[in-house]
Amino acid sequence: MKIQSFGAAKTVTGSCHIVNENGVKVMVDCGFFQGNKDEENKNSELGFNPAEIDYLILTHAHLDHCGRIPMLIKGGFKGKIYCTKPTFQLARLIMLDTAKIMLEDYKHDLKKRLRYNPEKKSASHSATSLSSANFTTSRSSSSSPSSVLLYNELDVFESLDHFNPVLTYNTPFILDEKHNIKVEIKDAGHILGSSFVKLMFGGSSIIFSGDLGNKNKPIVNNFSYPDEADAVYIETTYGDRLHKSFDDSKTELFNIIATTFKNGGNVLIPSFAMERTQDILYILKGFYKNGQLPKCKIFLDSPLAINITDIFLKNPEYFRKDELQLFQKDNPFEIPYLTETREVEESKEINKFTDSAIIIAGSGMLTGGRMLHHLKHNLWRKENSIIFIGYQARGTLGRRIVEGDKTIKVFGEHIDVNASVHTINGFSSHADQNELIEWLSALKNQQKTKICLVHGDEDKMNIFKEKITPLGFNAYIPSYAEEIEI
Ligand SMILES: [Zn+2]
Repeated sequence: MKIQSFGAAKTVTGSCHIVNENGVKVMVDCGFFQGNKDEENKNSELGFNPAEIDYLILTHAHLDHCGRIPMLIKGGFKGKIYCTKPTFQLARLIMLDTAKIMLEDYKHDLKKRLRYNPEKKSASHSATSLSSANFTTSRSSSSSPSSVLLYNELDVFESLDHFNPVLTYNTPFILDEKHNIKVEIKDAGHILGSSFVKLMFGGSSIIFSGDLGNKNKPIVNNFSYPDEADAVYIETTYGDRLHKSFDDSKTELFNIIATTFKNGGNVLIPSFAMERTQDILYILKGFYKNGQLPKCKIFLDSPLAINITDIFLKNPEYFRKDELQLFQKDNPFEIPYLTETREVEESKEINKFTDSAIIIAGSGMLTGGRMLHHLKHNLWRKENSIIFIGYQARGTLGRRIVEGDKTIKVFGEHIDVNASVHTINGFSSHADQNELIEWLSALKNQQKTKICLVHGDEDKMNIFKEKITPLGFNAYIPSYAEEIEI
């Protein structure tokens, strides 16, 4: 068995692994590179020939695991894509949203080029491109916009025809009868429908962890455990650290809300649309049911997050058992104070509320989205609070605010940061160092298993490697496209 990683190798995003067993190629995930421009630029090349891939298994619907699928299809992939039902439904939304954002960015850049083009002779060509929407996928000349349109909505719809969302937890599935290839998925406890994957090729086997969840979260189950395999590819996003407990983080959230309302202010929560937003709604509902939550307005100001919440409600069988029992009596995300705002006009109305409002909107790292408008209206007032509940990558506006910038620029306007800034890190969707070790420790015959560390920053991977090597694990950190033979 030979394995190559075309993403998430010594980096956190772009998950994409190909297993080659006697000429049959099974891919696990085909995700986007995210973060700074250098990382995003890696998306324009897949690094392999998609026509040679026979099967794709998708572990879960986060963009860094599914975002390059339409490029795979455009490149000639003819096979089926296997995953759980919610993973298919959520990946569909994520890929369509990505195609929409790419088109908006591209048009925006193109318009900027029309207003100021260093090469005037190319201006008419650019104007034609904008009106016909016939976009290229590469930067063909210096007159092209800096954004790249990797795929459009039609490409996404074509990709959806390849999905076969038939995988269910703990049920082996025959992927290829002729070559005796089976796949078994188990619950990764990361987001709704997430899984880790075991591929079985006759006598040999390999496990890919996908992303593993932080334990004791609301909504989804804790992760299941692996049994045995010749190799395990494990994510190491937080291989270097421990999280605060979920309960401590809940208390922290409640205290910030109560204090802010007492001071006559609003609470802003920049949030990732998938899982984190639903977790926050669920927690707020808990505060409401306990009679703790002061009377207020809660705005979910993100069409994507609203659509994703609807998909959660359609898949209660993927909820934790105890949550499922509660769900059967009550919608876990429905709070009488909650208003969902899909339309732009409704979103603008939120500006009228100057106190006792909780505004949840994207993007989670303030790289775009409706939250930028709310920053403009709220960040300069000292009565208000902004709460970061997710990782803030280097170079993002979110990171600058967390690091204490006193003035920021939004839509060309300078805004003072007078609101109080909070970071709560216990709501992570990823397992921490102890949980990753606990998951690995369930392996039988662990001395015989090759452990490959992926999906992490290299410095964090090295810390994790140093931590698990004395425990008897045979750990290795693969490079991009490096061929690992098991
Ligand atoms: Zn993930």
